[in-house]
Amino acid sequence: MRVLVIEDETSLRETLKAQLTEAGFTVDVAQDGVEGLFAALEYPLDVAIIDLGLPKLTGLEVIGRLRAAGKTYPILILTARDSWQDKVEGLQAGADDYVAKPFHFEEVLARLQALLRRAGGWATPELKCGPVILDTRAQTVKVGEAPVELTTFEYRILEHLMLRAGEVISKAELTERLYDQDFERDSNVIEVLVGRLRRKLDPEERLKPIETLRGRGYRFSLPRESAG
Ligand code: CA
Repeated sequence: MRVLVIEDETSLRETLKAQLTEAGFTVDVAQDGVEGLFAALEYPLDVAIIDLGLPKLTGLEVIGRLRAAGKTYPILILTARDSWQDKVEGLQAGADDYVAKPFHFEEVLARLQALLRRAGGWATPELKCGPVILDTRAQTVKVGEAPVELTTFEYRILEHLMLRAGEVISKAELTERLYDQDFERDSNVIEVLVGRLRRKLDPEERLKPIETLRGRGYRFSLPRESAG
């Protein structure tokens, strides 16, 4: 999942970047409203964290322009602890949720995960498709009762495909959402990882959880069991 953090306070921005990276996100950062708006319009994002008090262009203006430009990904705003007006204005401008400063990272992470799963049409943190169960909190995967050991990148690919189970996801999208910009964009890497995922999830090739649509991408094709 690719997240943009727009925050002018350097230490907070860098801390969030490190924590989100540790939590498995691909992270872009911007330090003012102008830089942030550019990144928010141009980068292939899954979610954005936007501080409301930003230099050059306020967080509210950034959100308003993003929504006016047709960007629909979820937005989490960072607000002052005691300002209910900020929260209301932010939500009215098009944000989806807020966290008041100072916050615990766990709260930011839980809210981001909830926004991402709702954007994918899931009501619970456990994604179930047929016998495949992915727990977005523990970042674990089971097929039936059997745990499946995945590498970080295998997990990230599976999470991305399962959050949007039933949709076609292109190789380009997987590459952009899962790797930093400086990573060599080689779609063969994605093919290799998807191949490994298939062998781990379905060693006997009975489930066929991940379909390849030639020239278009991949689709997680087992039916959702708890869409809400
Ligand atoms: Ca600020």
